[in-house]
Amino acid sequence: MANEAAPPDFTPTEKTRVKRLHERGHYDRETVYAILDAGFICHVGYIIDDQPFVTPTSYWREGDRVYWHGSSASRMLRTISKGIKVCLTATHVDGLVLARSGFHSSINYRAVMAFGEAEVITDERHKEQALKAFVEHVTPGRWAMLRPVTSQELKGTTVLSMQLDEVSAKVRTGPPKDDDEDYALPIWAGVLPLKVSSGPPEPDPRLTVTVPIPEHARKFALER
Ligand SMILES: Cc1cc2nc3c(=O)[nH]c(=O)nc-3n(C[C@H](O)[C@H](O)[C@H](O)COP(=O)(O)OP(=O)(O)OC[C@H]3O[C@@H](n4cnc5c(N)ncnc54)[C@H](O)[C@@H]3O)c2cc1C
Repeated sequence: MANEAAPPDFTPTEKTRVKRLHERGHYDRETVYAILDAGFICHVGYIIDDQPFVTPTSYWREGDRVYWHGSSASRMLRTISKGIKVCLTATHVDGLVLARSGFHSSINYRAVMAFGEAEVITDERHKEQALKAFVEHVTPGRWAMLRPVTSQELKGTTVLSMQLDEVSAKVRTGPPKDDDEDYALPIWAGVLPLKVSSGPPEPDPRLTVTVPIPEHARKFALER
């Protein structure tokens, strides 16, 4: 709907208020969504019988919800489907911050931490739409090229979504922050930028017909 009001920014709670270096904390949707949308791997934490587990998995965001998926047989998904509390984190490492002391050496990063309870998407059409959104998020334009998903595949896949409600972002940028007296020391200091890069596409040796490399694969290599 064109005039639908955007949800308000996140309100820090006892859990999400950034206390250490609080100036790095952000609660606006723009920052949180930009961090989430820049990646597709997160870590989901949950407890089974008093034992914490933290599982790496893929995710994507649509509106004010974050999604993840996997085999319906997955212990992680079966457990979280029960509506237990989870904590999802997504992180990007942007650089090594080399200070003039080990103490002030740091890392430039963007991270989001979201707390909540996930819901299972039971409606098949909604599930398929969500999976399409995932494929399109990672490789725009690919869904239409794929063999259509079967109902058996949909049954074997669990898709979860969690409302982004109790959320914080924490971001560090910029050069080292050394002690004033250390700036005069003859020690090189600065930032070593880091980013994820991709190599050229590697065709599957089992390609049986000549198919041109699609744009989303070629562009992926060029743009990331
Ligand atoms: C980058 C990345 C992306 C992934 N994306 C997805 C996804 O989109 N969907 C999905 O379902 N799964 C994904 N996985 C795999 C995921 O981490 C789990 O292995 C999977 O979800 C099965 O979970 P489970 O609880 O059923 O595992 P189980 O097999 O029941 O786990 C049993 C034990 O196996 C070990 N184990 C399980 N997974 C891992 C792991 N990843 N690394 C080390 N040890 C492990 C742990 O000790 C765990 O306690 C991804 C993994 C990575 C690293």
